[in-house]
Amino acid sequence: MEDRIIITRNTRIKKENAKYLILIEQNPYMQFKRLYKELKLDVNNFSFFTRCSICNLDLEKTDKNLISNKIPQLTYLNTNDFFICPNCKKIYWKQSHYDFFINKIIKLIYDKDNF
Ligand SMILES: [Zn+2]
Repeated sequence: MEDRIIITRNTRIKKENAKYLILIEQNPYMQFKRLYKELKLDVNNFSFFTRCSICNLDLEKTDKNLISNKIPQLTYLNTNDFFICPNCKKIYWKQSHYDFFINKIIKLIYDKDNF
């Protein structure tokens, strides 16, 4: 048996010989918080936003000159690190949304009022 845990919102799941965690939370931030607590995630050794949100494959660093015609010009000028999905070719970069989510995650983990 693989050492995997099924994470689901399906309350009727009945799989023998499988570990699973049923999420009752609907809010994705509260779902993350539950996963953090239940699975005792070590966020210090966590790599956030390193997978494609569509394919779930590891992103690969790419040269911005190779994708310059596929990103907004201001982004091209103001950003140096770009990542691409090897499968669907979606392009990712760290901007304000990245900082927003990292700060949100930190707040969820360390703000006891949110627990
Ligand atoms: Zn992809």
